[in-house]
Amino acid sequence: MGNSKGKIQESVEKPCRVNGKRDSKGRWKCTELRICLGCHREMSKDCFSTSGKTASGSIHYRSRCKKCYAEQQSILRDENRDKYREYWRKFHSNHREERNQQLRDYRKKIRQRGLDALGGKCVYCGRTNPKVLTFGHIKNDGNEHRRRMKHPDAVYRDWDKKGWPKDEVELQCYNYNLGGSCD
Ligand SMILES: [Zn+2]
Ligand SMILES: [Zn+2]
Repeated sequence: MGNSKGKIQESVEKPCRVNGKRDSKGRWKCTELRICLGCHREMSKDCFSTSGKTASGSIHYRSRCKKCYAEQQSILRDENRDKYREYWRKFHSNHREERNQQLRDYRKKIRQRGLDALGGKCVYCGRTNPKVLTFGHIKNDGNEHRRRMKHPDAVYRDWDKKGWPKDEVELQCYNYNLGGSCD
């Protein structure tokens, strides 16, 4: 009996480290009270969690009780999670937009270089409207070339790198390119 009583006292005694006092029934009572910044209730210090020590070496208590502190932390975590999510969502969408624009500009530039290098008109009918002009494989090796390059863009890149060789590529209007005749 006396043994178990000692145990209980020990466990009750433990949480309160400052200015503890036993009440009339012998229960440990904390006499130093603090007001929680969260719920504004007055509570004994052992209701507050600690975080390290102050400069003077005493225990530093948080300004919120354990419950309010936990709540605050969980709210902050949620807010941060949302902030991160929003940040990355924006980053990716801006980035994608930027990247697409770069690709469009790049394709336009290569296409313009090709048009300039190859005379700017269909070699069969002389149409000069750049909107109806396309690049055709002279040696009828289009499929093979596309397969070798693995990506449609790479075909144009390859010609661009080689300086638009006139024995490989020529300007054609879409009519000729699709139907073999300019009409
Ligand atoms: Zn509180
Ligand atoms: Zn033509």
